[in-house]
Amino acid sequence: MGRRKKIVQECEKLMDKPEQIRNIAIAAHVDHGKTTLSDNLLAGAGMISDATAGQQLAMDTKEDEQERGITIDAANVSMTHEWEDENHLINLIDTPGHVDFGGDVTRAMRAVDGALVVVDAVEGAMPQTETVLRQALREGVKPALFINKVDRLINELQEGPQEMQERLLDVITDVNELIRGMTEEKDYDWTVSVDEGTVAFGSALYKWGVSIPSMEETGISFGDIIDMEESGNRDELHDRTPLSDVVLDMVAEHFPDPLDAQPRRVPTIWRGDAESELAEQMRLVDDEGEVVFMSTDISMDPHAGEIATGRLFSGTLEKGQELYVSGTAGKNRIQSVGIFMGDSREEVSRVPAGNIAAVTGLRDAIAGSTVSSVEMTPFESIEHISEPVITKS
Ligand code: GDP
Repeated sequence: MGRRKKIVQECEKLMDKPEQIRNIAIAAHVDHGKTTLSDNLLAGAGMISDATAGQQLAMDTKEDEQERGITIDAANVSMTHEWEDENHLINLIDTPGHVDFGGDVTRAMRAVDGALVVVDAVEGAMPQTETVLRQALREGVKPALFINKVDRLINELQEGPQEMQERLLDVITDVNELIRGMTEEKDYDWTVSVDEGTVAFGSALYKWGVSIPSMEETGISFGDIIDMEESGNRDELHDRTPLSDVVLDMVAEHFPDPLDAQPRRVPTIWRGDAESELAEQMRLVDDEGEVVFMSTDISMDPHAGEIATGRLFSGTLEKGQELYVSGTAGKNRIQSVGIFMGDSREEVSRVPAGNIAAVTGLRDAIAGSTVSSVEMTPFESIEHISEPVITKS
């Protein structure tokens, strides 16, 4: 059996175990390294070769995106990662990093439960860092932080361990100030913390990363990192502390699974009757309940036609189902269901609740449609949060 087929089978097995699923997005200010990090994760999960990670930009699937060097459309990929002897299914949604595409970022956030926020260590938190954090927190999506381009602190700014740590702490303090300001009325504390392991740092370009838990495990210190970076020993650094392992461990440990996330998220994004059976099915991620799917992205496939990608909150999606699409009359018939692997879609026989699915046949669906087996109150419309507008007087 081919390796790819094996990965698909492994993903299919995990789709039925919500406690082993993490639906995540990576979001960042433009050029802070989101695409390079995504490639690292794909390479770490065996989806693309290690050597091409960072060059291939697998998430930038459209030619014009590659030409323009920016990611326009949210792309999706599923991968597996072993953490504490258990395999996990990580459904990753890429989000556009460019100012003009804020609407896509918000839509991507609707599908996920955790947001990995990437910040360039040299530039620090920037306006779009604030925007993506706001988008995540408004959707009830939990943040974690990856501080990227730490190699630049060593090689360009020639910082020592003390200066480096101070700079990293400054970035964390700034990000936490933003988070605190946005979650004042919440009963949970979602600030990030180095000690708790919700912050990691490293170099997506040179494919190494560390966190406090990883440093304890590998014994690698800031001094070691500086030595290895300065002497050009980056391959050793990558071998000893690969970025993808550190980040995917953080994802598996600290991001909520759908069972944890949906009871919190459903009241935030759906204003239907909280006492209804449907509400209960969504909160419980009930794969035997009614189908409730929210499409967050529509893409065109030359063969399959329109593909609706989104989050399945309840029920199980299967070929042949006739589903209501909010805001339209009549029903659409599902032609196929699948998951994404890199830039290609793999058809599977069924997708149960808690997963990100790619569905064909929903010809009336648009990004933001509620698709369901019973008529229901649609999800809240996805509010587009735009960049602060600078007006000239
Ligand atoms: P995105 O716009 O957030 O997707 O950013 P990219 O991943 O496209 O990276 C933007 C630029 O920063 C590219 O030229 C990358 O090669 C570079 N870059 C990304 N990560 C690192 C890093 O860890 N260190 C350094 N020095 N450059 C990086």
